[in-house]
Amino acid sequence: SGWVLSPLTDAEKINYRLNGVESFYNDTPVRQSLSDILSEVKDVGRLTGKISNGNLNPKDCIALSRSLAVIPNIKFLLSGICDAYVSDIITKLSDYSDVVSLLDRAIFEEKNVDENKTKKEIRYIKDGYNAELDELRLLASGGKNALQEIENKERERTGIKTLRVAYNRVFGYFIEVTNSFKDKVPYDYIRKQTIANAERYVTEELKDLEEKILTALDRAETLELKLFGEIKSWLTGKVSALLTTAEAIAELDVLISLASVARDKGFVKPKIAGYGEELNIKDGRHPVVEAALKQRFVPNDCLMDNYENRTMIITGPNMAGKSTYMRQIAIITVMAHIGSFVPAKSATIPLTDKIFTRIGASDSLISDQSTFMVEMTEVANIVRNATKNSLLILDEVGRGTSTYDGLSIAWAALEYLTEKVRAKTLFATHYHELTELEGFIDGVKNYKVTVKEMPDGVIFLRKIARGDANKSFGIEVATLAGVGNEITDRAKEILKNLERKDVKRADADKLEKPKLSETERIIKEIDLNNLSPIQAFNLINDLYEKLGGKDE
Ligand code: ATP
Repeated sequence: SGWVLSPLTDAEKINYRLNGVESFYNDTPVRQSLSDILSEVKDVGRLTGKISNGNLNPKDCIALSRSLAVIPNIKFLLSGICDAYVSDIITKLSDYSDVVSLLDRAIFEEKNVDENKTKKEIRYIKDGYNAELDELRLLASGGKNALQEIENKERERTGIKTLRVAYNRVFGYFIEVTNSFKDKVPYDYIRKQTIANAERYVTEELKDLEEKILTALDRAETLELKLFGEIKSWLTGKVSALLTTAEAIAELDVLISLASVARDKGFVKPKIAGYGEELNIKDGRHPVVEAALKQRFVPNDCLMDNYENRTMIITGPNMAGKSTYMRQIAIITVMAHIGSFVPAKSATIPLTDKIFTRIGASDSLISDQSTFMVEMTEVANIVRNATKNSLLILDEVGRGTSTYDGLSIAWAALEYLTEKVRAKTLFATHYHELTELEGFIDGVKNYKVTVKEMPDGVIFLRKIARGDANKSFGIEVATLAGVGNEITDRAKEILKNLERKDVKRADADKLEKPKLSETERIIKEIDLNNLSPIQAFNLINDLYEKLGGKDE
């Protein structure tokens, strides 16, 4: 996660990672073997942290030993790969055969827990590791055999076949006799506890034996603790090497994961260009939307540079895919800066100092800011901090206020960003008026997300193309969403009225414009409703002649 949180801005470092990923991308058998091995490796960094803090437990030792035991195997698999990053990883993977063999010899695989045993009998140091410990254990278990002997002997002496010797935490060892044989209990039994259907006793002999067993177990426990303490303090000397190794394993894990994802999802190695150079993505995809989608994801190109193509104004109906497109450009850019392959057929990504986004209306009512205030604060931040080497993703600006107000702000912001900041900017908008900026300001290019209009609605093609969408489909989308005919039919009516007003206003505008050229006037005077095809053809022919005919 460190890589994701802090993308690099140094081409050399990025390529160092990309080449590492590429090595594993190309070598599928090694990648798969390593990925299998690594899935069994525990977090060595965390275990090392426990060594430093002194709270490593026996289970951790097993995890550590198993994780370190595979290192020679990892190194062997890596040795065939010729890559600078991989070589560095190999160097960081030290030899831990001493740690592995000590832990293997000393610590039980599973904690020896058995509910019937006393706490002192829970052992984690293996037999054979320490002679003194072995001896104490022998003593304790010898005591156990003696218990069995006592039981046999007492049964014989009293003639009580159901008599048994048992243990509990509170009373220690005792002899239990069921109530029906109470009369047969000898005088030297000392009563200790009465339970529902039996009496529990001790004898001098049993007490002595108990003493012996518990003392042996006590001493064994103390010794185990001491031995384990020695092992832990020995491991402390390995901490710094272990941390380096842990880092190398983590890096290897990331490289292999990135390579596997790249293989599975069809990502390519991006070419990293210098600051301000061209961003050129062929058939780019949004990795998350693509994965979530049931149908095919439609790939799209993107070309931006610091000259003619600084600002892309993207129009298109709701739901067409504007946000997805812009985000995919930002995601691909971030992925490249992390050192990851990217979802595209090919991609050249220039070094980018910052990525700014203004996406969605995230209200922060609690912090006393209205939706529009938040929007404007974000714009202000972008205007202040973006540079010509930044990437800006603006998903609608100026929607939170009245139309002309918002349009004016969006327009002015776009002008400023394109002309003064000169960052690479993607700007999605429903204000079609903004498309007039192309040709008016250098560096602005209009794009639209294409749709196909059918009699019974629209089909989203999801393809980005040059030009501007000349129509919104808000009402169609509202219908799709189930807003209800009563509202959508009425909305269509209102829209018609508004558009009629707009046309009138536009006509009024034209009156003030300079006089039309002759061809324009002819076209304007055509009575379209009374024009036959032949007349139309002749008319076009006349206009063509008027404009000077075909160029030779
Ligand atoms: P609005 O203007 O309403 O915000 P939008 O144009 O930003 O809409 P998106 O939110 O980007 O639209 O996309 C809507 C949905 O279309 C996505 O959730 C996704 O399911 C689908 N979609 C977007 N892009 C593609 C694509 N390239 N290929 C396939 N499906 C896509």
